[in-house]
Amino acid sequence: TPGSLVAAWKARVAKNPDGIALRYFDGVLSAREVDAASDALAAAFEARGTGRGDRVGVYLQNVPQYALVLLALWKLGATALGLNPMYRGRELRRIIEDSGAVGVVCADEDVHETLGTLAGSSVRWLISTSALDCQSKNDPRVFATTERHAPAPDGDLVALIGEFAGRGPSPVEPTRDDVAFLTYTSGTTGPPKGAMNTHGNVLGVVATCASWMGVGDGDVVLAMAPLFHITGAVVNATISLLTDTTLVLAGRFHPEVVLEAFAEHQVTYTIGSITAYNAIYELPQAGPEHFATAKALYSGGAPIPPATVERFRERFGVYLHNGYGMTETTSAVIAVPPGERAPVHLPSGTLSVGKPLPHLTARVVDLHGDPVPCGQQGELELSGPQVVPGYWGKPEATRRAMPEGRLRTGDVAVIDEEGWVYLVDRLKDQINVSGYKVWPREVEDALYEHPSVLEAAVVGQPDAYRGETVVAYVSLKAGLNATAEELIAFSRERLAAYKCPRTVHFLSDLPKTQSGKIRRAELRDVDGTGPD
Ligand code: ATP
Ligand code: MG
Repeated sequence: TPGSLVAAWKARVAKNPDGIALRYFDGVLSAREVDAASDALAAAFEARGTGRGDRVGVYLQNVPQYALVLLALWKLGATALGLNPMYRGRELRRIIEDSGAVGVVCADEDVHETLGTLAGSSVRWLISTSALDCQSKNDPRVFATTERHAPAPDGDLVALIGEFAGRGPSPVEPTRDDVAFLTYTSGTTGPPKGAMNTHGNVLGVVATCASWMGVGDGDVVLAMAPLFHITGAVVNATISLLTDTTLVLAGRFHPEVVLEAFAEHQVTYTIGSITAYNAIYELPQAGPEHFATAKALYSGGAPIPPATVERFRERFGVYLHNGYGMTETTSAVIAVPPGERAPVHLPSGTLSVGKPLPHLTARVVDLHGDPVPCGQQGELELSGPQVVPGYWGKPEATRRAMPEGRLRTGDVAVIDEEGWVYLVDRLKDQINVSGYKVWPREVEDALYEHPSVLEAAVVGQPDAYRGETVVAYVSLKAGLNATAEELIAFSRERLAAYKCPRTVHFLSDLPKTQSGKIRRAELRDVDGTGPD
């Protein structure tokens, strides 16, 4: 097995140099072209003083330049720091400062904003990018371009590829311990932390996912998850780059564009968030024909209500496979095998997240870290080659989260006799109603069964009498109605009275992280009666 992502990439290029590695609307790049362009780019980065161990921010949407930058950085033994392209000002600055990034690649339209944010930071260079030559620049989808605000001081990525053509970086062979991605956690429960995903971690996930989920030669992988998030980076982009498959990129996520790409490029495999699948479901033009070539569709990163899987299957004839992973496990490590159907745990009605992938050890432990008997609840603890060595610059947080190298996930789970893993909820989100413990997930799953409910989030709110009460935030499907009283009565038919929401607030959209997770913490912070 190759020792680094670069060696694995080289093996792919050697196997089928003319195979299409990247596709972006009407533009395509073969493996050989991608290799040459990333060599040139690596030389350009090196000429700006960038080398092994340096962090470089990639502040781009899902565009082919993203993949070129990844390969260029790995060829230097440098680290890709995914930066959420929605981040502005302070959000961006915080991650740049924490990581000590030396350079940033951004889109033309973001140059102005980025320059202001980076002034006085560790960043020594800023390169922006225009559209690649292979792309029709008249296609409005290629870049959601606004006028160019300012030229980036250190050049245009496309021009640099031309300028450094035929050159490459000084030879560096990254090891399994070099950091391939520095990935910040989603920030669902607190400030994001930088997880150091090494070449060994990424290779571990790519190899197990590719064989388990059946991604192989000739497949067409659509990057539905954003590439700055670990799932997009590893299980969409890297898995495709390291196998003889085509990676389809569609820019910023627009459900209509992604739906079109499914049919147009005959996509066989993708993984995305349930939020993205829900957005596609909402499109009236979506039909089974869009998913005709799909072999396996995965949804990961957030709970999937069983009702949503059922809805998807009924309308499109495709089954959404659940998958579980964390930034700290370099993405998917527990998943539903293709062809299998996730069982639903009784009595809670929770859909299984799947079975542990090869080489991952999953245990359920009690407060002292001792394993609990099969079928009992406890904290999920994971170890294996997929688990990162730690958080960047945070030895104390690393020791707390990974005592003896075993990752305490902060998730409560049950593993049944057949090895199916059920995620109960986040340990921190448990609600205590007069001493009764309520898992918000279970209440949300009940609300999702209501035909009008698009999304639901349940949190505990302080209550002088009960300690906490259950409060639900709901968004409704376009054109459908429901009242608070109706939803409370609906939950009463399905849940014990103490679990039912006492209040239901309607929002047009629930607050989410950029990876598509509903931020219960934000809803919990809402004072008094909450927004209406
Ligand atoms: P932070 O750690 O910064 O608070 P985060 O935990 O949301 O944010 P990620 O690493 O992106 O950041 O997400 C990992 C978490 O996502 C898991 O710990 C788990 O709670 C949740 N998760 C992942 N996959 C699933 C799934 N299939 N079903 C339910 N929850 C999931
Ligand atoms: Mg986390």
